[in-house]
This record gives sequence, structure tokens and C-alpha cells, in this order.
Amino acid sequence: MSTRRDFLKTTAAATLLPSVIRAQAPARKIGYCIVGLGRISLNQFMPGIAGTQNSRIVAIVSGHRDKAEKTAALYGVSTSAIYDYGHYDDIAKNPDIDAVYIALPNGMHAEYTVRAARAGKHVLSEKPMANTVRECEQMVAACKQAQRKLMIAYRCRYQGTHLRAVQICHDGSIGDLRFIEATFGFNIAKGEWRLTKKLAGGGPLMDVGIYCLNACRYLTGEEPRSLSASSSVVSPDGRFTEVEENVFWNMRFPSGVVATCATSYGSNCGNFFKAVGTKGWVQMDPAYSYDGLRFKAHLAAGLDIDTPVDDASPKQFTREADHFSQCILENKDPRTPGEEGLRDMKLIEAIYKSATADKPVAV
Ligand code: NAD
Repeated sequence: MSTRRDFLKTTAAATLLPSVIRAQAPARKIGYCIVGLGRISLNQFMPGIAGTQNSRIVAIVSGHRDKAEKTAALYGVSTSAIYDYGHYDDIAKNPDIDAVYIALPNGMHAEYTVRAARAGKHVLSEKPMANTVRECEQMVAACKQAQRKLMIAYRCRYQGTHLRAVQICHDGSIGDLRFIEATFGFNIAKGEWRLTKKLAGGGPLMDVGIYCLNACRYLTGEEPRSLSASSSVVSPDGRFTEVEENVFWNMRFPSGVVATCATSYGSNCGNFFKAVGTKGWVQMDPAYSYDGLRFKAHLAAGLDIDTPVDDASPKQFTREADHFSQCILENKDPRTPGEEGLRDMKLIEAIYKSATADKPVAV
């Protein structure tokens, strides 16, 4: 089991990662098959891959041939490496494909991961890992059995300022950590697959609240031991017949740190975390966007920091792909493996359980 010390070690090492990668550019590039040409693939991940030195796009899976051909031309992918969903398993026959990047609705991540593993491919799956704990366990088992790597695309874990905030929470710069506030939400449009239970698994907690949950875990370096939650549907406009509109939850960590979090699909309720210690605090606001992040801190040494983060999109995705490719090339475990997504999913199920029962639960 990893300890807080292990976590800090990997975090400190991670801050050195990009320069290390650049100093030793590998001869071989990991070939990615992009599964799903939606917003995150087209606007972030694929441009992000283009910025790496160790990764390239070699295949595409899409239900829209025209869009796939245009995208293939843009990234130099052969039209013979475009697959529709009915021929997904044919990726097994393409030796150029080392890994798949799964950017489908949440409810499809498990099936497409298991099939990719059976086809002998490594898997980088978007967050949330899947709809349920059971699905996450199936993904971990399938990749283990096929001896393929599985990483969950928690891009903030590859973002330098998030890593700096983690360091500050642990090196005494703000004294001893006492509590964390974290919020992420937005006003969702009607007609999104994110509002259907089968495709999304749940509401804002699955989609954006997960950033707050994950942040509380990496900022503390601990796993919560109990939590209490409540959820609500308030908007009367018919968007929230299958999933919740708002979730509020508190988590207690073994050290005594308490975190309070909120997420919403009914309002632009915020996009931040603030970690408060006995002698100062550290904050990011916005914290979870692709760019335009802002870092603020009041440190025990009397120093006040308020600075924009120079990290334009799609750099977070470049680092994420760099890392996974490096893990494949050097046969190392990714920093955010399937087990990390599984841990969040166990907590998400506990949050829903607490909200439904309207009482605290031990985790
Ligand atoms: P999107 O709706 O823009 O794209 C979804 C893709 O899945 C499309 O190409 C669509 O054609 C395809 N698809 C296949 N079968 C489908 C079906 N039955 N219903 C709907 N679409 C289907 O979604 P997105 O915003 O790109 O999100 C995709 C995944 O990426 C989600 O799991 C989401 O949580 C995750 N995501 C991650 C980040 C991040 O910053 N890491 C940001 C946004 C989304």
C-alpha cells in the first residue's frame, strides 16, 4: 500500500519529468488509437499528443467516417487505420497501435477497455473510470490478465501548480493542514449524454465533482475514513430526471483534516480548492480548467503569492500522454493507474449511499 511519503516522492520526481523526457527523447514513439472523436479528443488530447516527443496518433475509432477522415488527414493517420465501432476488435491486427485512448461516454469506458486489453493494447481511459466499482474492477482485472497497462486520465495530477500545492500542504509552508474546500460545477445544457444515467453513471459528481474528490485525496495524501453527503434536484426544467443536479459532501481524514466539497450541473458554482493550514493557506481558482489557472497562497514565512499559471492548453494533455508513453516504453507503473480510478469510484458510491440514506457512512 502506498504511503504519504511514497506519494510525495513520486510528486517531487514528477516535477522533474518534462525536462527528463526531453533530455532523452526516445527513438520509438508509442502509437495511440483514439476511440471517440468528441470534444475532449479533438480539442485537447489529440493536440496534446502532437506536443509530445514520445507519442503519435496511428489509428481512429469513430462512428462518423467523414469526421474521421478529416481528423486522420490532420494527424497523418492512414485511412486504413480508421475503424467504426462495429470493427473495434480489429485493432488487434494493427501492430502500429500500442495503446488506446478512450474518450467515450463514461458508461462505455469499461467495455472498450476490456476489449482493448483483449486485443493486446494498453489503455488510457478518460475519467471517471467507469459507471460503477464493479466495472472498474473488471477493467483492472482485464488489463492485469492481458499484462497491459491501464491509466486513468487525471490530467491535474500532471499539472505543475497542482503538484506545487501538494508540496506546500506537506512541507510546513502553511503549518499543519487543517481543512480543504473544493468546488466544481457548471450549468449543463439540455440534451447532453451526461444527463442520462446509463451513459453517465450519475450527475455532476461523476463528471466534475470527481476533480474535487481527487484533489482532496492528493492534497492530504490520505484516504478519507468517513463521509456524509446530500444531493438535490431543484431546477424544475426537466434536465434532472435521471441524475442529480447538486451534491454536497464532507470527508474526514485520519489526520483530522476535514474537506467540504460541492458540485453542480445547475449553476456555475465555482472551480477551486483552498487548503488551509495552521499558519497559512494555498488556493487555486480556477483550479480544474484546461488553462487560465490561478495560484494564490499565504505562506507561514509571511509571503503572499497571487499569480496566473503559465500553462496554456493543451499542455496538461501533453504531459499526461508523455507520462503514459514513458511508462509503456520503460515498463513502469503509471502515477494514476486503474486502482486510482477505482478508489475514487468507491468513494463516489459511498457519497451516493450517504446522500440516499441521509446519514454519514464509514469508508
Ligand atoms: P463528447 O460528447 O464530446 O464525445 C463523446 C464521443 O463519444 C463522441 O465522439 C461520440 O460520437 C462518441 N459516442 C459513441 N457512442 C456514443 C453514445 N452512445 N452516446 C454518445 N456519444 C457516443 O464527450 P466528451 O466531453 O468528449 O467526454 C468524453 C469522455 O471524456 C467522458 O468520459 C468525460 O468524462 C471525459 N472528459 C474528460 C475531460 C478531462 O479534462 N479529462 C474533459 C471532458 C470530458
